[in-house]
Amino acid sequence: MAHIYDYAIIGSGLTGLSIAAALSRETKNIALIEAADVPCGVNKKVNFPTGPMNNGIRFVPDSVLSEKALRFLGNILNTSVVADASEEAPITYESGGFKTFLGFGDNPPPFYEELAYFTNSKRLDLTLQPYEWTQLLFEKFQGDFMPRSYVTKFHQEGERVTHVTINGSKTLHAHNFIFAGTVKDLALLLPEEALSVRARSKLSKNTYWTALCLDLCHSKAVTESTAMHILNGTTQDEIGPCAGRFLPAIEVDGQMLQASQWMTFIEQEVTEDSEVVGLALKKIKRQIKRAYPEALDGLKLERIFVAPIISGNGDLKLSANLTIPELENLWIASATVNEQKNLVGALLQAETIMASLGFRVEADETSSVMEEESTAEMSL
Ligand SMILES: Cc1cc2nc3c(=O)[nH]c(=O)nc-3n(C[C@H](O)[C@H](O)[C@H](O)COP(=O)(O)OP(=O)(O)OC[C@H]3O[C@@H](n4cnc5c(N)ncnc54)[C@H](O)[C@@H]3O)c2cc1C
Repeated sequence: MAHIYDYAIIGSGLTGLSIAAALSRETKNIALIEAADVPCGVNKKVNFPTGPMNNGIRFVPDSVLSEKALRFLGNILNTSVVADASEEAPITYESGGFKTFLGFGDNPPPFYEELAYFTNSKRLDLTLQPYEWTQLLFEKFQGDFMPRSYVTKFHQEGERVTHVTINGSKTLHAHNFIFAGTVKDLALLLPEEALSVRARSKLSKNTYWTALCLDLCHSKAVTESTAMHILNGTTQDEIGPCAGRFLPAIEVDGQMLQASQWMTFIEQEVTEDSEVVGLALKKIKRQIKRAYPEALDGLKLERIFVAPIISGNGDLKLSANLTIPELENLWIASATVNEQKNLVGALLQAETIMASLGFRVEADETSSVMEEESTAEMSL
């Protein structure tokens, strides 16, 4: 008879890993299924001449919900990930000088919400970076990790998912399934009965945003400013503004180097259009050069990457405990279905799903509490 896992988690990004690490306190009978070669999703480590850093810019606004999300993460890792909260207004470059960024006025970009996240003047300073969170979470995971395994279909019997197909051929059975991949893909992955034609088409047609990122290593120190930069320039074109920030300059082999990380958004449909991607990158560089005329001279390293569908309206109706209404054992953990989105949304979604599975995650490993009424079925 086929092995039945207690939990099958699809996707090993921050969301999937948080759940996988937290559940490992309860059972080792977990399958963590990942399409890529390695875990971590978008929060992976990048080795730069200035040292290891996040895969693109990372910013956590200071808010009650951010603190809640990071407390949850800290509880899983048994360490606090927040060093402090600090305040620094975002800046922009206008009429030959830097000014406090006051908003987009009458001309908000179509991805206003995505960018507005970065314009909060209050931020949380971290003791550990998101690429370190995912590494540590993976260390805490104790089940079976299955890389290069793309879930291509969910199969249901009655109101329960019984198994998934992996890479079009392999079958994996579990009592509970947690989907932490891209919500849009559910239009293809879910069985016909589980999603109405209308919901399926809505899910496919929603607007999703792709992040277009530029990580630069400058061959000299450019600025001491650690403020978030929102650069737009004077021309209003179809390519919108970008957000970016400089990391502290450091000396490497006798030379001062400074890294900076920039990001803008393009619609998911044009992700493959090299002309749009090229234009957007050019615009980012033009804005940096306008503000810091020598910053791009003799760049030590330039890293361009595209992160498809990092946000967007994953408009999917879920039951109160975050399962697909027609499938009582399929929880949807993707950050894009949480009101908060981003890192905070990913963690809050994971926390709510843990609660819905019947677990409250406390800092001390021994005090993880299983609630009396658990909706999850376990074979322990
Ligand atoms: C460049 C960049 C900059 C960002 N900056 C910030 C920031 O400053 N502040 C902030 O709060 N947030 C930021 N974010 C967003 C934040 O990082 C993400 O919202 C969050 O990490 C999402 O985590 P996730 O686990 O939901 O998704 P992901 O990290 O995308 O992980 C999903 C995983 O699921 C796997 N998967 C998907 N489908 C399947 C399948 N069918 N079968 C098997 N595996 C599958 C994928 O391979 C992937 O590994 C940024 C994101 C990017 C890309």
